[in-house]
Amino acid sequence: MQHLIDTNDFTEEQIKTIMEDAKTFKKKMPKKLLADKLLITLFFESSTRTRSSFEVAAKRLGASVIHLDPSKSSTNKGESLEDTFENLAAMEPDGVIIRHEFNNTPKKLANKELTPIINAGAGNYAHPTQALLDYFTMLEHFKTDTLKNRTIAIVGDIVSSRVASSGIRLFTRMGMNVVLVAPKPFMPDNDLPKYESLDDVIDSVDIVMSLRAQLERHKAPIFEDYDEYAKEYCITKERMRNRDILLLHPGPVMRNIDISDEMLKDRRCQVLAQVRNGVFVRMAILKELLLDS
Ligand code: ASP
Repeated sequence: MQHLIDTNDFTEEQIKTIMEDAKTFKKKMPKKLLADKLLITLFFESSTRTRSSFEVAAKRLGASVIHLDPSKSSTNKGESLEDTFENLAAMEPDGVIIRHEFNNTPKKLANKELTPIINAGAGNYAHPTQALLDYFTMLEHFKTDTLKNRTIAIVGDIVSSRVASSGIRLFTRMGMNVVLVAPKPFMPDNDLPKYESLDDVIDSVDIVMSLRAQLERHKAPIFEDYDEYAKEYCITKERMRNRDILLLHPGPVMRNIDISDEMLKDRRCQVLAQVRNGVFVRMAILKELLLDS
């Protein structure tokens, strides 16, 4: 039984297969490879893209999807998350796709070895399918099969972002240079090159990944005024000038704080390409987890 807690659950060979399958699926929709499979989604935090993307991906491959809304489930009546999960697993689904505020929830459930667990976002620790779809979007943009020595600047609330955590692990593993750009309270403690201002490094980056301030994860407000924050960290045309840089963002975008309206319309901004690619990459991931193992 294979789980996906973070991208290091996949070998490099598997990641290669996922990238190739996603590319093939994008060219031509495959047959209903997962026609006899049933997945349950269990989202304890809000989601627009990830939940619907998983559902579209599963259905494109012919699988059935059942959503359990935790706010209407028995976790609301005092049942523990683990008991809820064991009850769902007793119905013998082919996998459970889970999002939860705690970093270790997917791993804890996976350790029960009852059904494959697919992490759709855990605390600030991991969001593996986002990292893989970002990686795919970059490969596609640069029309290459390796991103070795390309440089990505991750900009914004890095310390609270599971997208950044998973991205940093995957991109460095794939030989990319990762630089971090954030004000001190948003900067994690690690060995990567760090900048307080994007202007200091923008001339040496190929990709900028902008991140939303994860307000829901801040115990107390970190900045009073996000307009002030935006003056330094919003990705604007003035900041990008005519540099040939790919601009990514996992969504949801806080307009004119993360990225300006004008840059969102710019051809360098590939936020919707990320969403489109997310379906093909998740199809490839589901195939890898549910069919190939
Ligand atoms: N959608 C991403 C996540 O679930 C990014 C975000 O919410 O800012 O982590």
